[in-house]
Amino acid sequence: MNYKILDGKKTSKKILADISAKISKMNQKPRLDIIIAGDDYASQKYVSMKEKTARRIGYDGVVHKFPKSVTEEQLAETILELNSNSDVTGFMIQLPLPAHLDSYKLLNLIDPVKDVDGLTDVNLGRLFANRPYLNPATAQGVIRLLEEYMIEMKGKDAVVIGKSAIVGMPIAGLLLSKDATVTVCHIETQDTKSIAAKADILVSATGVPHLVKEEWVKEGAVVVDVGIEKDPKTGKLVGDVDFESVAPKCSYITPVPGGTGPMTIACLMENGLINYK
Ligand code: NAD
Repeated sequence: MNYKILDGKKTSKKILADISAKISKMNQKPRLDIIIAGDDYASQKYVSMKEKTARRIGYDGVVHKFPKSVTEEQLAETILELNSNSDVTGFMIQLPLPAHLDSYKLLNLIDPVKDVDGLTDVNLGRLFANRPYLNPATAQGVIRLLEEYMIEMKGKDAVVIGKSAIVGMPIAGLLLSKDATVTVCHIETQDTKSIAAKADILVSATGVPHLVKEEWVKEGAVVVDVGIEKDPKTGKLVGDVDFESVAPKCSYITPVPGGTGPMTIACLMENGLINYK
């Protein structure tokens, strides 16, 4: 089959250009802040990408950097300050936080209207109540990419592999809200391969490099790879999907890099404007 690429880079550029045009017309620049703790290499890279993108499209913003030894009280204090600072349109905590910190507790200190990552209980709950406000950026990015390529979700069999609260579950929730019939697989699922092989739309978000092989995919399926991992042999970025063997069976497929990653950043930037309006 002649597959088409779901181009997250190109689509995200369009979204960012649109946001930039909106910001240029505003009297006061919106402000998007990021909290980061510790020295995790990947997290630092993600934060720097988000910061650069935000500046390029016209946001103000501050990155609040803390050492690995930061206490919950120190982070809580910053979160409460940002909640009450009317200059701050929205902010996010870069995950994962160092292991001694309770991410769930800290995330839920964020005022839901400033929760640009959409990860507070309020925003996750609203997603599942079909009353979305700020959707988690990665999940939103997956749906926006499918919409950009006019992929029909209504009535389709969608399978999501991975059920984390911040990635897999919100993706499943948003696919449901688009009237897909959704099955969620995870590490305890018996025979994920057979379930995946029935999907019209297969989304993988596990963090297991090359988990999804040719025999996991139905002929003509749409495959979205959310995984971002470093290949232990080559050091290159790879996803959950074994692109070489899977792509020829697909109608559409995302590349890694250049698929869901840039869409996450674009949707984060878009969330930054919801509260401003
Ligand atoms: P996580 O470890 O919290 O969750 C992984 C999920 O995958 C779990 O539900 C687990 O049960 C399931 N799983 C693991 N191995 C499996 C297997 N063999 N079969 C079936 N299910 C399996 O990870 P996460 O935070 O949800 O992130 C998942 C991936 O998405 C990672 O690669 C991460 O880097 C990536 N990610 C990408 C973006 C993006 O913008 N594209 C954003 C966030 C995370």
